[in-house]
This record gives sequence, C-alpha cells and structure tokens, in this order.
Amino acid sequence: MQDFSFHTHTIGFDGRNTVEEMIETAQNLGLKKLGISNHFIVYPTIKETKMYEAAARRGYQNIYSATFDEAIERFKPHYEEIDRLKEKSGLKIYKGMEVDFFASNQWRDGFEKTVEILKPDYLIGSAHFVEYKDTLCNSHDLKNAAKEEQKLLLHKYWQNVRATAQSNLFHFLAHLDLMKKVGLGLGDEWIEDECRTVEAISSSSMRAEINTSGFKLSYGEPYPSKRILSLFAKYDVPVIISDDAHNVERLGDRFDEAFQMAKQCGIRHFYDPFAGQKDDFSSFKEQNRFL
Ligand SMILES: [Zn+2]
Ligand SMILES: [Zn+2]
Repeated sequence: MQDFSFHTHTIGFDGRNTVEEMIETAQNLGLKKLGISNHFIVYPTIKETKMYEAAARRGYQNIYSATFDEAIERFKPHYEEIDRLKEKSGLKIYKGMEVDFFASNQWRDGFEKTVEILKPDYLIGSAHFVEYKDTLCNSHDLKNAAKEEQKLLLHKYWQNVRATAQSNLFHFLAHLDLMKKVGLGLGDEWIEDECRTVEAISSSSMRAEINTSGFKLSYGEPYPSKRILSLFAKYDVPVIISDDAHNVERLGDRFDEAFQMAKQCGIRHFYDPFAGQKDDFSSFKEQNRFL
C-alpha cells in the first residue's frame, strides 16, 4: 500500500480533527509520511457569494479569504502548529495547501508573495469553482443552472483545470472530474475536454491525483473516472493516491482499491513528491522552479 497521504484537511479550516489527531492516526495506520493541505482560496468578492453564506452557516468560512493577507494570517499559526508537532512526531510531516488557481496576473503575484512568506513544502492545484458573470459558481450552482448554461460552465471548469496545469505552480492536481459529484460531465461529449486536459498535464511538470473520496459517490470509482485513468496511462502521467481526509476515519481509506484500479487502467508510474529526499528539501525545491 502507498504509505503516505498528502491531501488532508483539519479543524480551523473544513476538517473535523486536529493536526495532532491526524498525525496520531496516520502513525497508527503505519503511514511514513503525512502532508496537511488545507484549502487556500482567495477571491476578492468571495464573501458576497451564496456559497460563502452557506459555509458560514456550517462553520467553515475560514477556507475563504478576500485577500492574500487574510489567508496568510490564517495559515501562519496553522503552519507554526505543524512545525511544533513535527518535532515530536515519529513520521515525516509536511506543510501543504490545496490551492484554487485563478488565471490572472494579480492572483499570481499575490500567490507568489504568499509562497515566499509561508514557505509550504508542497502545493496541490485544484479547481472547485467557475468564474462566471463576476462571481464564483460552485458545483451546486452548476447543478442548478439551466441546461445550456450548465454546458458552458462545465466547459469553463475544464478550461480552469487546464489553466491550473499550465501554470506549473503545483506538484499535483486534485480530483480532475470533481463535477461528477453533482452528476455532471459523465457523457461521451466530455471526452474531448478530458483528453485535452490530460494532454495539458502531461506537457506540464505536474502530476495527478487519484482521490478515494470519489468512492463515496455511486459510480464505484474514485476521482477521476476509469476513463480518465486510462488517459493518464496513455499520456504517461504519474499519479499519487489521496484520501482527501477531512477526518481521521478517512485517512488511507481504500488506497489498495485505487492502486489496483490504476494498474488495471494501465498506469505504471506512481508519484511521491518526497521520494528519495533528505530531511531538507533543497534539492526538491531546486527541481521545482517555483518553490
Ligand atoms: Zn478539493
Ligand atoms: Zn481536499
């Protein structure tokens, strides 16, 4: 089994357990490395959206920030806590982020400044939203949109994923076909978008994730689908298996199953961002032109 997990969330953001509890469980499961990757979502008008209101009602509004400074202030004490716990932990602990990429120069400048200040060990690129008419739509907005608008939004979603890959800012991309969460993007008409996206990933320096939280849905597959896993094999994109654990129960969940499925789809290369690295990550950071 893959003995590390790099896509996890904790209390203070939208996870349900503390960093300490996640480390303890990872250790009991026999994992050798654990990365904590809470959401980093910065968008100027995010607090005016309905989804922000909904998040506030459920108590996880902290994942959304209107400015980079606000997000940096949230991550500072969180990273300090990880640094403290790292010292006494028996396994290797890494500071990550699951970042929503927005394609503008302003966003990129703010994000580069953030990385200089917070110095994360690794970065996950993701697209949970679509920018539309000066606001952000999430998966539920997509689900509730009129048919024609829905198609347009889903195309925009795939464009975002490609832009995230082409940014070369991240180590791997999260849950490519996230929109199947609300039943979107399943038909054959989406194969072209999927192909172009996997092609964009393979020509970037990025890798992709197999996210076992997709097994919660009724399709019997992780994110992404078998159809996309076969494209990973065709374009030789290395993959990393993630649980996207928002609580201790989900750590390492169904890793074996995801691994077998990847093999069946022809995937040969599996990715560990810290394979063969010493305790300091200088050589790893040298390889990555951004960190
Ligand atoms: Zn996510
Ligand atoms: Zn996540």
